[in-house]
Amino acid sequence: MRRNRTLERRIARERVEVLMSLASQVFREDRGLAKRYVELARRIAMRYNLRFPKRWKRWFCRRCGSFLVPGVNLRVRCRKLRVVYTCLECGHVRRVPYVREKLQKRLQTLHTKS
Ligand SMILES: [Zn+2]
Repeated sequence: MRRNRTLERRIARERVEVLMSLASQVFREDRGLAKRYVELARRIAMRYNLRFPKRWKRWFCRRCGSFLVPGVNLRVRCRKLRVVYTCLECGHVRRVPYVREKLQKRLQTLHTKS
């Protein structure tokens, strides 16, 4: 039988969504479980070559895979032209220059408008 890739990817995308929202729900009670959900979501996204949903991208550590919540296990600091995210589970630091982000956002709005 022919595999329906489009359908498969759609289901995979849904699963990633579900897993990530589960992670956010169980986080308070069980960080280990939340991390496990993130792991699964990332694995699915990788297997189906999906771009990770934007709204969840920031919510896990690229290195240790922990689900991250600002003020709990994620430190967010603004430096001159960047935002510094520190994973308090493993100490991984991610710096996001926000000038570029601002520009990107502007470009995006331009795109959607035109
Ligand atoms: Zn980490």
